[in-house]
Amino acid sequence: SSMTKEAEVAVLAVIRACQLTKSVQNTLTVDEKVTKPDKSPVTVGDLAAQSLISLHLLNSFPEDKIVGEEDTTELRQNDGLRSKVVELVNEGFGKGRAEAGAWSEGKTFSESEILSAIDAGSDAGGGTGRLWTIDPIDGTLGFLRKEQYAVCLALIVDGQVELGVLACPNLGTNSVDDATKGVLFLARRGEGSWSRPIESAEYKQLSLPASIPSSSIRFLESVESGHSAHGIQARIGALLGVPENTSLRMDSQANLRIPTKYMGGKAYEEKIWDHASGSLLISESGGICTDMHGKPLDFSQGRTLKKNDGVVAAGRDMHAQVLEAVKQAVAEAQT
Ligand code: AMP
Ligand code: MG
Repeated sequence: SSMTKEAEVAVLAVIRACQLTKSVQNTLTVDEKVTKPDKSPVTVGDLAAQSLISLHLLNSFPEDKIVGEEDTTELRQNDGLRSKVVELVNEGFGKGRAEAGAWSEGKTFSESEILSAIDAGSDAGGGTGRLWTIDPIDGTLGFLRKEQYAVCLALIVDGQVELGVLACPNLGTNSVDDATKGVLFLARRGEGSWSRPIESAEYKQLSLPASIPSSSIRFLESVESGHSAHGIQARIGALLGVPENTSLRMDSQANLRIPTKYMGGKAYEEKIWDHASGSLLISESGGICTDMHGKPLDFSQGRTLKKNDGVVAAGRDMHAQVLEAVKQAVAEAQT
């Protein structure tokens, strides 16, 4: 079967976090965010979702390490934010939210349990033992625009991603107000990958087509021009014969990311929670995910992919061609 205890716990936690973040997205206004020291935004949705997911992990796998994107620095200084997060986490365990009888349904957690669950995610990461990595809202800027975002949870064992869950509450819908839609993806190393509606446990096995005509190549990149080099990426698309202006821009995992430093931007180390689930999902679906030089993503280096540079995810038959186009487009940008 596609489910191990790890997969079952991870799916339940992510589904609850999707419901939580979705309800926040429906009511949040753009200015209801706090800016972290690294200048990136965080909302009550990110913080509450990380707590909720961590509470599941701490209960089921108390020995495992957790690397989560968020910490409680902002929460401890802001009473309003803190009480909102506590309220949201407890709503997340409300009756009728996940399947009947799910773990801790209807239970209330204390403020200190909720805050320590967030801080449980402060592990330094590394290449030994079992490590969960959480991105409670991947693409917070998209989330604030009321567009795409993902809730991501992966299990890394001895530096290898073993299990990835990635859910996109707004995928496949035209309206963000439609709470009945949304897709969840599950990948297990060596076993395959599946998708299901967030709202129902009907799993379908996934596979990328072995080859596709160049006219139907889909080119996927981030919305934010500060997160990847759109100029170089446009050139890569042109070199691959992707029709102009057809790139699909979506916030969050599994896209082409050429670092902005190649266009004069600041150096940036990609975070493990931004790519663990997405990269396993690509490889278990029959694609290839590496960095821009063709090196495998190395999740054993701590909280970031410090040995890698950018990300290239593509179908098996296209990946080498994409790397060639990357090389050429980057070289052109340097001259
Ligand atoms: P996306 O919306 O696809 O760009 O994904 C959002 C992620 O981009 C966030 O989780 C950040 O970790 C990441 N990010 C933030 N700043 C940068 C940067 N300068 N370069 C690359 N990624 C970044
Ligand atoms: Mg995030």
